[in-house]
Amino acid sequence: MDIVDLVKSRDPNEREFHQAVAEVIESIKPVLDRNPEFRSANIVERIVEPERVIMFRVPWMDDEGDVHVNRGFRIEMNSAIGPYKGGLRFHPSVNLGILKFLAFEQVFKNALTSLAMGGGKGGSDFDPKGKSDAEVQRFCQSFMLELSRHIGPDTDIPAGDIGVGAREIGYLFGMYKKVRNEFTGVLTGKGLNWGGSLIRPEATGYGSVYFAAEMLAAKGDSLEGKKSLVSGSGNVAQFTMEKLIELGSIPVTFSDSSGYIYDEKGVDREKLDYIMELKNVRRGRVSAYAEKYPEAVYIPVDPEADHNPLWDHVAHCAFPSATQNEINEKDAANLVKNGVLVVSEGANMPTTPEGVDTFLDHDILYGPGKAANAGGVSVSGLEMSQNSMRLGWTRAEVDERLQMIMKNIHKTCLDTAEQYGTPFNYVNGANIAGFAKVAQAMIDQGVV
Ligand code: GLU
Repeated sequence: MDIVDLVKSRDPNEREFHQAVAEVIESIKPVLDRNPEFRSANIVERIVEPERVIMFRVPWMDDEGDVHVNRGFRIEMNSAIGPYKGGLRFHPSVNLGILKFLAFEQVFKNALTSLAMGGGKGGSDFDPKGKSDAEVQRFCQSFMLELSRHIGPDTDIPAGDIGVGAREIGYLFGMYKKVRNEFTGVLTGKGLNWGGSLIRPEATGYGSVYFAAEMLAAKGDSLEGKKSLVSGSGNVAQFTMEKLIELGSIPVTFSDSSGYIYDEKGVDREKLDYIMELKNVRRGRVSAYAEKYPEAVYIPVDPEADHNPLWDHVAHCAFPSATQNEINEKDAANLVKNGVLVVSEGANMPTTPEGVDTFLDHDILYGPGKAANAGGVSVSGLEMSQNSMRLGWTRAEVDERLQMIMKNIHKTCLDTAEQYGTPFNYVNGANIAGFAKVAQAMIDQGVV
C-alpha cells in the first residue's frame, strides 16, 4: 500500500498530519531511488509512526472553584539524532492530529539545524485566552505534574509554541523542579536569570528574516526598502517585524484571530514597542492599534471566507507567522498577482499544498517553515548547550551562531535542491536534506 494511504487508513481523522506526510513523501522519492537501503529497512513506514504518544487528563480549578478537564499530549516522534525536542502548544484547536503534524515537521526541522535534537511536540486543548494568571498557573502545574514523568534534559525537552510563552514556561519549570527535585535544562525558553538564553525569544522571527535575506541574496537582492506582509502578532510576528525594521524593510500588516492591521506608512520602532506592550503586557487585541495610530486601518477577517484580505496587498515579501494553513491557493495567487518575490514561513505549515504549488509554479522564493522557522529551535539547542556547560553566552555570541545556522540551513537546502535537479525548490531541499540525515541515523542504529 502507498504510504500516504496507509497513514490515512490508520488514522483517518488526522488531516493535518496526512498533509505534512504527503508533502515530505512527494519530495523524497528520488532519495529512496538513490538509497535502496532506505527502502529495504522500511525507513518511511517507521518514520511516520511516533516512537511514543503520551495522552493524559489535565484537571484544574478555575477562580470560581469550578473544576475543568483538558487533554494533555506529548508526541515523542523520533530520537534518531538526539533527545526529543519541540514545543508545547496550548490552543483549543489542539488534538492528536495537529500535534502529530507538528512533531513530524519538527523531526526534519531539527535535523536541518545541524544540532543533535530529535523531534517531539506536545500541548493541550486548554485556551489561555481570557484566563487569569492564577488559572494559567494551576493549569500549567497540573499539566506538568503528569508530563514530568516522561521528560528530562537527556530524554525530551519541551519549549513554547502558540499559547506557551515565558509565563507558562516559568510555571511549568517550577513544577518540574519541585516534583523531580532537579534544577536542569528540561525546558527551553526559560527566564534569563534562571537558565534561559539571550535571543531565544527573538530567535524564530529573526531566523525567518535571516532566511528570507539569504534567499534574496542568492538572487543578488536584499530586503532593503521592501514592503513586507506579516501575519500574527505573537512572539514570532513581533520579532520578525523587529528584524525587518532593522534591515530596512517596511512591515505593513500584522494580525490576530479576529482581523488584521494595514498600516501603509509601515510599523516603525515606536509602533512596535506599542504592539509589544499591547500584546505581552495588556494581552489586548490588535484592533486597538488603529485607535492609537489613525493612519492605520483595522480590517476584521471572516475565517470562513475563501481568502484572507491580508494577503491581497501589494508587497515584495510575505512572512506568515500565525498558524497552519493560513495561506490557501487563492491567497497565494493574490500574493503572486501583487508581485511578491519571497515568502518565508515563521509559522509551521502556514501554506496549503495548493498554495505551495502556486508559489513554486511562479518561481517565488519560498522558504518552507521547517527551514525558515528553524531559528527558534536552534537557539533552544544553544540554550541546552549553555545549560550543560553551566555558562551563558552574550547576546552577540548567540546571534552570531543563529545567523550562521540560518545561513547553513539555507545553503544545505539550496545545494540539495540543485543536486536533485530542482534548483531553488527549497521544499525539496529541506525535505530531502532533513530526511536523509534522520534516515541514515536510523539505519546506523538498527531496527529499534
Ligand atoms: N515551537 C517552536 C518550533 O515550532 C520551538 C520549539 C523548541 O524551541 O523546542 O520550532
